[in-house]
Amino acid sequence: MLSFQGTGIGGGIAIGRARVLEVASRDVPRRRLEATEVVAEQARLAQAIDRVKAELTGLAASLPEGAPTEAAALLEVHAMILDDLAFSGAAREVIAEHLWNAEWAMSAQAGHLAAQFEALDDAYLRERGRDVQQVADRVMRALAGMGGRLADGNEPAIFVAEDISPADMLTMRSALGFAIDLGGATSHTAILARSMNVPAVLGLESVRSQVQDDDWLILDGDAGVLIVAPDAAVLADYRLRQVAGERELAQLQRLAGLATVTRDGHPISLQVNIERPDEALEAAESGAAGVGLFRSEFLFMNRRELPSEDEQFEAYRQVVRAMRGRLVTIRTIDVGADKALESAASVSFPAAVATNPALGRRAIRYSLAQPQVFLAQLRAILRVSAIGPVRLLVPMIAHHHEVDSLLRLLAQARGQLRAAGHPFDPALPVGAMIEVPAAALCASYFARRLDFLSIGTNDLIQYALAIDRSDHEVASLYDPFHPAVLRLVAGTIRAARKANRPVSVCGEMAGDWQATALLLGMGLTEFSMHPASLLRVKREILQADIGWLAPKVARIVAGDDPVRAAAARKRLVKGQPQVASTPTAI
Ligand code: PEP
Ligand code: MG
Repeated sequence: MLSFQGTGIGGGIAIGRARVLEVASRDVPRRRLEATEVVAEQARLAQAIDRVKAELTGLAASLPEGAPTEAAALLEVHAMILDDLAFSGAAREVIAEHLWNAEWAMSAQAGHLAAQFEALDDAYLRERGRDVQQVADRVMRALAGMGGRLADGNEPAIFVAEDISPADMLTMRSALGFAIDLGGATSHTAILARSMNVPAVLGLESVRSQVQDDDWLILDGDAGVLIVAPDAAVLADYRLRQVAGERELAQLQRLAGLATVTRDGHPISLQVNIERPDEALEAAESGAAGVGLFRSEFLFMNRRELPSEDEQFEAYRQVVRAMRGRLVTIRTIDVGADKALESAASVSFPAAVATNPALGRRAIRYSLAQPQVFLAQLRAILRVSAIGPVRLLVPMIAHHHEVDSLLRLLAQARGQLRAAGHPFDPALPVGAMIEVPAAALCASYFARRLDFLSIGTNDLIQYALAIDRSDHEVASLYDPFHPAVLRLVAGTIRAARKANRPVSVCGEMAGDWQATALLLGMGLTEFSMHPASLLRVKREILQADIGWLAPKVARIVAGDDPVRAAAARKRLVKGQPQVASTPTAI
């Protein structure tokens, strides 16, 4: 029995046989050409590229209903790479100039491009190097006369690979899960696997070479663990866990129709986070009270041209319509750091990346530096406010002059819409994300100046603890329950409530059921999270007694001893009394 640790991207537990995928680019044939062979070799490469193009188009056209929403966009990215002159054009030139055969030319050029991406500091751009390599692997398969499919898509197995492109992943519809050597949580492969609702573990480093076809595997997508050839006792244990997980899900479903109210009668609003407009239908069906965070930047990514005001309006309208009268909070673009714009950093020529991109021109800083882009987005959001209840949320606010500029540009956008005769809600609520510690410490100021606050714990933790949230080497230090983080979150909630402004948490902490009692005790009544977390958090809310929790949480927040705080927090989760008034010391 062997056990490996990687980056888990969720999906529960899978148990099944291994299907180990070949690496297409291994043993690349290398041959010097005669000058007379160049034209024919270039034509052979062009044919292979056309064949891959046709495969990608075919895959895009045959996407089944219910295919993951990201699938089409990811296929488009690969088609774009294929068309890029720095990819296919340069490989043609290598054939002509260096007289190498098509396989060697393609492999050399892809390796060169991938190395450029991999040398970048930015985790998102580094992952784009994998996309280039994946497209090259497909071309190699075509040159070798191999079919486009890596594996029989109907085989129920756990696929083990050095890497799997999103396009290949789509052909593996009955996969029980994926165990992959490369990639991190922000890779396209991770995004697609997550939306296919199967367990996946990435970044396993050298697992592919240590697993044989038909080995028994246990894949735990939540813990990021792969176990090869488990012994009988471990297998039995995981089978029990798998059944328990399924049973828990079934039990949680029973809570779906219940009102979200604490045991002592406080109504709580549970909202969802979405990245793409077509996720709004799932959001509406999940029973959520609204969309607490629509990360609009995903409309701007993986494309060369920015979306126009009308295109944005259509996308926002799709969400507002799907939510049928429930509140939709649209966040203005939060690009920069791990979310790069393709238009600013093209596939072939990655833009220079700042030394500390998370501290650079991202989010509101980017928007204020591009006022025309920002104005178009503000107009699109204002226009959709005429159709249903909408709030506008601005990321990474930290300075008073950012609020001044935001309000000035909003006034300008309103004036432009009036002149153009477009209706909008003149009272559209405008809020700030509190995700920079400086903003959390001065939350009362932002609460006074704006209509609502939303706490982005993902970034707040990153900045408070100086931990890059996408760097796996320091991931173990990323602690949502650090006393400093708890103080920043509690202080922000307190300040908003004092100023009589709504406040929510829309970072991952809102979807962590182990943080629910703590947040309720701090006075939080609005939570926004991934739809998959809703019912677990709801279960905690239904069992909670805020009157019992509040004084205990106040004591946890006032302390600075992480060990005592952790023990007290565990008692909060376990120790809710059956009778609301039972006193328990923390
Ligand atoms: C956050 O920082 O908590 C947040 C919700 O925003 P994002 O994860 O998109 O940075
Ligand atoms: Mg953030």
